[in-house]
Amino acid sequence: MIAAADFNITKVERSKLVDINLENIPFGKYFTDHMLEVDFEDGEWKTPEIKPYQPLLMAPSLAAIHYGQSIFEGIKAYKNSNGEASIFRPHANFKRFNISAKRMQMPEIPEFIFMEGMKKLIEMDKNWIPSQADHSLYIRPFMFSCDDAIGVKPSEKYKFMIILSPTGPYYNNPMRIYVEEKYVRAVPGGIGFAKAAGNYGAAMHATAEAKKNGYDQVLWTDAFDHHHVQECGTMNVFFIIGNTVITPDLSSGTILAGVTRDSVITLLKEKGFDVQERALSIHEVIQAHKEGTLREVFGTGTAATISVIKELRYKEYIMEFDIDKWDVTPEIKTRLNAIRYGVAEDKYDWMYKIL
Ligand SMILES: *Cc1c(COP(=O)(O)O)cnc(C)c1O
Repeated sequence: MIAAADFNITKVERSKLVDINLENIPFGKYFTDHMLEVDFEDGEWKTPEIKPYQPLLMAPSLAAIHYGQSIFEGIKAYKNSNGEASIFRPHANFKRFNISAKRMQMPEIPEFIFMEGMKKLIEMDKNWIPSQADHSLYIRPFMFSCDDAIGVKPSEKYKFMIILSPTGPYYNNPMRIYVEEKYVRAVPGGIGFAKAAGNYGAAMHATAEAKKNGYDQVLWTDAFDHHHVQECGTMNVFFIIGNTVITPDLSSGTILAGVTRDSVITLLKEKGFDVQERALSIHEVIQAHKEGTLREVFGTGTAATISVIKELRYKEYIMEFDIDKWDVTPEIKTRLNAIRYGVAEDKYDWMYKIL
């Protein structure tokens, strides 16, 4: 059992922060002074190390590169106006990380290493948490296989790491979305519910084709009849029809169980909406659009929080929305941010205070 005192800590001699202005920095471009690195070998997790952020030295035969046992998480930490720092629902990400690990035949990470490692690392780099409005510290835990042999089998060695990236507002312009019918993101029995690197690699070609045709993202449909909506790019998707909100259910294993998704469901119910997690066909969406009851459509995820969808195209049928008239999506976004930045009461215990 690894205890707090067992962390091996090496500090930078000079912080890079003096050279960087934390205002309006682009997403995922700058990393803080330190990183967490923990090796899994001989069937156990070794002593966690926190050390200066630096490149890794690896063999060209590194298993993760060849066979793709590689998973990750995305979490955010926020500073409130009193300078106190909290992480948004990190235990949910911890649980999901181990669900991904299991599916990818990787060792589970003990809660202590994940949570204490993250806390200690952020404490060391606390000056990197931006305090400006809409800024945050993006936390990226990840794990990959490390055997240096190219025989096809689950690795015996793994590395778990956490890196931190300060981030400014995610300027997510309202999106134009192409309903994808050729390529699929996930199939029942596959790895759609895992936050696996390969899911992202597999999605890039379809996204690039949609971009070539003038769209920002694809709306994935199911693998069988291509009617049932799944996710919007790497975000969960919500449709407000009348006073009902519908988002695809998690039962088929093709949908990533987003922490933002879960939080938004809670806030929509709080507002009195009937939230239905169920299969939703694109034809039902089109029917609602024709009847004038399709009100708002949006995606959810940690990086962008809530992204407005202003246009949805299915074959030759185009649905355009007058997003300036929307009230629910902006209200939910404001409410969620108020909780995150400590402006509103944290009535669901979502904020995990660290500093
Ligand atoms: C990470 C991710 C999401 C969003 O999950 P959050 O926990 O809300 O950040 C949605 N869909 C996919 C495919 C993802 O990888």
